[in-house]
Amino acid sequence: MAKKDDLIVVCGGGGFIGGHLVADFRRQGYTNIRSVDIKPFDEWEQCFEDVDNLQADLRLRDSCYQAADGANEIYMLAADMGGMGFIETHKAACMLSVLISTHMLLAAKDCGCQRYFYSSSACVYNADKQKDTDVVPLKEEDAYPAMAEDGYGWEKLFTERMCRHFREDFGLTTRMARFHNVYGPFGTWEGGREKAPAAICRKVIHAKHTGEHEMEIWGDGTRTRSFMFIDDCLKGIQMFTQSDVEEPLNLGSDELVTVNGLVDIVEDIAGIKLKRNYDLTKPQGVNGRNSDNTLIQKYFGWEPSIRLRDGMAKTYAWIHDQYMAKYGS
Ligand code: NAD
Repeated sequence: MAKKDDLIVVCGGGGFIGGHLVADFRRQGYTNIRSVDIKPFDEWEQCFEDVDNLQADLRLRDSCYQAADGANEIYMLAADMGGMGFIETHKAACMLSVLISTHMLLAAKDCGCQRYFYSSSACVYNADKQKDTDVVPLKEEDAYPAMAEDGYGWEKLFTERMCRHFREDFGLTTRMARFHNVYGPFGTWEGGREKAPAAICRKVIHAKHTGEHEMEIWGDGTRTRSFMFIDDCLKGIQMFTQSDVEEPLNLGSDELVTVNGLVDIVEDIAGIKLKRNYDLTKPQGVNGRNSDNTLIQKYFGWEPSIRLRDGMAKTYAWIHDQYMAKYGS
């Protein structure tokens, strides 16, 4: 385990999960943190003055060596990504994250990094296993034979294998999690990259604010998913990184909900009922997806367990503040 003054590097630290991870390391007393992101600092979700903040394009090999210099641990969360609306329409951009993945692994190996965490995704799973809304939760072995989410999912699966072979061939200690839909405060909530929980919060807040008591829902509302609150994600990332578990593991909640069920929760939090307009032409992703948590339970005796209603209440409150600050008057 890293000492409190060892250098910890968070790639994608200007983003949602990376920003929370930096904040969490600070809370735990780590004093030597480098946070790296391509975005200008004023667009970072969380930016701390006592952190070595670096604006750099990690697709470039030299930037990766600069970022990894002296690192004890590297947390790799940088990727060009977003919700379904983004990944279904930006497949090439998503696959180009392979440049970030490749150059960062090379830099980690050459800079003598002790532990390397990679954020993979449930989008690696075979699409044939996700055709039914009445899902059988996805086990880790269901990624093969491979038929990942086009674009984004294939890049994640390829990079998982690269992490494995860097461990086997070069002795780099790599650890991997397959995140299932992470949500919480500081997540993107408008602009096209937002995910369903944040988009639904924003739409409900907008309807309440404007008095137009209706909302658009992508699809027919019957698709099923599970959603993990950010605090569980942070705990899992650090648990996996410090462990001896070499294979990629699911990191997700197994509390399954339909899109309609998620809207019910947000309406309940907001104290409002809206007319729902279903748009079947919008990107919707697979019909059903849930996390099988047998392996994480076996290795750690733990799994993400923050209830969706509780996490959504915190997320709604944060998005409400953002919305009112921007559109409130
Ligand atoms: P995010 O978009 O908020 O954060 C990713 C960050 O990477 C962004 O701040 C972005 O600016 C940065 N980035 C993109 N290209 C870069 C580049 N060339 N150089 C440097 N930085 C660059 O996304 P997030 O939700 O925090 O996701 C973090 C990681 O977790 C990603 O790898 C993502 O694929 C993975 N993941 C997330 C979820 C989820 O539900 N949020 C689910 C599965 C996997």
